[in-house]
Amino acid sequence: MTDNKRLHSYLRDHAPDMVALLTRLVEMESPSDHKPSLDRLAGALATEALSLGAEVAVLARETAGDIVRARWGDAAGGTLLLCHMDTVWELGTLATRPVRIEDGRLYGPGAFDMKGGIVNALWAVRALRELGLMPLRRITLLITSDEETGSQASRALIEAEAVAHEAVYVLEPAYPPLGALKTWRKGTGEYTVTVTGRAAHAGAAPEQGINAIVELAQQIPTIAALTDYATGTTVNVGVISGGSRSNVVPDRAWAEVDVRTMNAAEAARIDAALRGLTPRLPGAQITVGGGANRPPMPRSEATLALYARAKAAADELGLPLSETGTGGGSDGNFTAALGVPTLDGLGVTGDGAHALHEHVELASLPERAALLAALLRS
Ligand SMILES: [Zn+2]
Repeated sequence: MTDNKRLHSYLRDHAPDMVALLTRLVEMESPSDHKPSLDRLAGALATEALSLGAEVAVLARETAGDIVRARWGDAAGGTLLLCHMDTVWELGTLATRPVRIEDGRLYGPGAFDMKGGIVNALWAVRALRELGLMPLRRITLLITSDEETGSQASRALIEAEAVAHEAVYVLEPAYPPLGALKTWRKGTGEYTVTVTGRAAHAGAAPEQGINAIVELAQQIPTIAALTDYATGTTVNVGVISGGSRSNVVPDRAWAEVDVRTMNAAEAARIDAALRGLTPRLPGAQITVGGGANRPPMPRSEATLALYARAKAAADELGLPLSETGTGGGSDGNFTAALGVPTLDGLGVTGDGAHALHEHVELASLPERAALLAALLRS
């Protein structure tokens, strides 16, 4: 039996332990905006990593949950495993949607996105250690706490760790339903376009007003027309608001705009177009806030080389594997944009990220952990 197949067999034998750990992690709720819960989970994850012989640091954050960094080996370079412990689910979600196992699936808030990935990272390392197959190259596991809200408190750390390693494996969930890896992601941006006009009495002195809503309404077709499906660029006016009451000429109106792009040039084109919006009504003013959040993760040669390694390992293990991309961003966008080879979607198989039917295919726990362990050795 090859070493990679031994890893697979070891992990299959320990599948119930992996399910138990996943259950325990999901039962510790951890919404992005609730620091006490995140810190408690960080403590539990640090203890897990310590039990695996890691050098562990819990990195305090003031406004976000603390971050866990676990390292095995001290040589330079090596592999960075990227996870996040926060979820989009509010405290109390478990009361109505407790962890439930049915037809080989584990349902629960945050199980798929991405506590399953954390379980796989920890168990991949455990298998490598138990079988005496730990690579000489360093492994660093970084578990952040604010991915779902844009990674403001972790981005600098993620980027510093990324450039200190040779490759980044992101344990975000695989692409449903068959578990494709993600070799590209669109970049994301969030903008607020605000129009300032002048308030006036709609009956007594309407001519003295500058109607911010009318101005914004004229801008919206221009904004929407920035979408270009041929290049993969989408610009979505998702929220509009403005005015106070019907007998007042409104002096304020604004729109929230979501931008997705395949490459930096498109991100720059949209940024310039939004910031260059010019008012149509005399006296109206337009201000544009926000900006690019995550840069695009292009389908690069470096990422495809990592994918080729994963595919070879999957073939050896008899697991199906394919690659795809998504309009959704992850922390892999940051590391790829720095030129560090990045492969994403290495977490568990399942479905329903951010949705009520969120679940993990339990058979994928040992399979994907074995794939990761094999990749760490390659
Ligand atoms: Zn995620």
